[in-house]
Amino acid sequence: MYKTIEDEVLKKAPPAELKAEFIQHEFERLHKFCVLIYVASIAVWILYDLILSFIGDQAFTWRSMVFITVFTILLIVLLFTRQARHFHWLNVLFVLTMTLGTRLLIDGLTIEHQAAWLLLAASTTLFSASILPLSSGSFFAAQIITWVLLNPFYDTEIDVLELRGLMAVSYTVFVCALTLYSFLTLSKAKLYNFIMSRLLLDQAYIDTLTEIPNRRSFMTRADKQLHNAPREHDHYLAMIDIDNFKKVNDVYGHDIGDEVLKRIAADIKTVMSHFEYARLGGEEFAIYLAGVRREDVEALAGELCRVVREQVTRHPVTISIGLAKVLEGDTLNQALIKADAALYESKHSGKDRYTFHQQA
Ligand code: GH3
Ligand code: MG
Ligand code: MG
Repeated sequence: MYKTIEDEVLKKAPPAELKAEFIQHEFERLHKFCVLIYVASIAVWILYDLILSFIGDQAFTWRSMVFITVFTILLIVLLFTRQARHFHWLNVLFVLTMTLGTRLLIDGLTIEHQAAWLLLAASTTLFSASILPLSSGSFFAAQIITWVLLNPFYDTEIDVLELRGLMAVSYTVFVCALTLYSFLTLSKAKLYNFIMSRLLLDQAYIDTLTEIPNRRSFMTRADKQLHNAPREHDHYLAMIDIDNFKKVNDVYGHDIGDEVLKRIAADIKTVMSHFEYARLGGEEFAIYLAGVRREDVEALAGELCRVVREQVTRHPVTISIGLAKVLEGDTLNQALIKADAALYESKHSGKDRYTFHQQA
């Protein structure tokens, strides 16, 4: 089954908004990891700067201070960055300053060592970039900046056609291809995993017929509201059942019955858009209304009954609603039992109405 759905997913090009959502999700999940990579890069840069300054007799100059300040500013900006697209730009700046700083450090070495260290620095930078949650654009920019600023042939007196030159060229091509390939392949694999889990989650939590949340989704979300939503106003639970629905199926057929179910779901979605609603199963729906007053609940329930009753359609129906105030200490199941009892009252007093549960 997983394979069948996966094949379906792999066949289609992912829509742009899903891709954007994935990129943002990936960045949020890896924000701490990005900070860690920046801190490690800065620490290594400072370490090499200190080694060159004190053991290499280069003296710790004002330029070192400027670079450390810029790195720190970029790190602080990253700490406050919440949008992936901002991070993609920030990382271009970080790679630019880091490679420039590294070039200046390597310039302090004797000429015969420079090419090898430039290659080491370039491959480290590109490896780090390839594991960050970057867009392709930002990663390509990192590649270009790295090879321009850490070019092992610029000002290093290496001839491309001699032994050291040929080895450097081969290694450059290898690193370039390896980091590009792994970045693109991993990005694609992660994107498809994201799409797969989204799809499977949707299928597990959305009712296939009416396309509104199902019982599983309701039990999770309403329970969360029950425990976490502020209590300055009351919480209410509504149970809804379509009146004489069996007759709709018997007279018009099951397909029309399904159409009616979809229509009622759409009405609930319209009237109760601010609350948690779901199809519990069959022709029963539930709504969790957090932070409302009794008057609000009356108005909303009355409005929903009216909207359903006054639908201009060839297959008119009505609904009955049972309402229960969710008391502090109530479990969701206890509240559902109370709302169900109130629904029973609505049915027995003539249907097409709402009834509040009477507290014993
Ligand atoms: P009441 O006013 O007392 O609620 O009467 P009712 O006829 O609505 O109540 P009952 O519970 O006896 O009937 C519910 C019907 O809902 C029975 C079943 O055929 C139908 N039903 C349940 N799920 C679906 C569905 O997915 N599609 C269709 N078309 N019908 C469904
Ligand atoms: Mg029923
Ligand atoms: Mg019914």
